Amino acid sequence: MPFPVLEGQSIGIIPPGTDAEGRAHHARQYSIASPRNGERPGYNNLSLTVKRVLEDHQGQPVRGVGSNYLCDLKVGDKVQVIGPFGASFLMPNHARSHIVMICTGTGSAPMRAMTEWRRRLRASGKFESGKLMLFFRRAHPARSCRTSGRCKACPRTSSTSTSPSRARRAVPSATCRT
Ligand SMILES: Cc1cc2nc3c(=O)[nH]c(=O)nc-3n(C[C@H](O)[C@H](O)[C@H](O)COP(=O)(O)OP(=O)(O)OC[C@H]3O[C@@H](n4cnc5c(N)ncnc54)[C@H](O)[C@@H]3O)c2cc1C
Repeated sequence: MPFPVLEGQSIGIIPPGTDAEGRAHHARQYSIASPRNGERPGYNNLSLTVKRVLEDHQGQPVRGVGSNYLCDLKVGDKVQVIGPFGASFLMPNHARSHIVMICTGTGSAPMRAMTEWRRRLRASGKFESGKLMLFFRRAHPARSCRTSGRCKACPRTSSTSTSPSRARRAVPSATCRT
């Protein structure tokens, strides 16, 4: 592949233009959300999940440079990318390894890449018996969960189950064993 990536890595995006001091924008990092063989298997593409930043951490209105640039891209736009980065948060190669993934509302992109890669291995017959366990808490329980459809789509086997659970302070969450 011209741009090889692994689940658990991130890439840097350099937004065009300059900041208030006239310097080129620094790169923003985004976790890769697709498996190593592409969002569409066999194609040299990858996916990101980007939260559009319209409020800062204090709740004040702000327009995040990188996230809004990415969310407003049109099909065919060219993007300056650096990386990939990350050598420590990768999947074990052994097909029988068990993996426990714990993520809160944001930060689920690498987990999507890992669960999807395992799902593809299973479909290709190369999967052995390794289990994945995903603890996933939604940051905004009132909003619909974009991941639950995928969890429900997982095949029900002796090593697969999806069950809702409750986190501390009665915040609704989902515990997904795929
Ligand atoms: C390893 C790594 C992986 C990452 N993966 C992802 C990913 O998969 N998806 C993703 O959406 N982001 C991810 N991020 C965060 C991303 O790099 C940017 O920081 C984020 O998109 C905001 O950048 P921006 O240019 O839009 O905001 P900026 O223009 O840099 O910041 C504008 C203002 O918003 C505040 N701000 C920054 N981020 C947030 C936030 N999340 N919520 C509220 N206020 C904020 C800043 O403090 C600042 O005041 C990752 C970061 C790292 C380090």
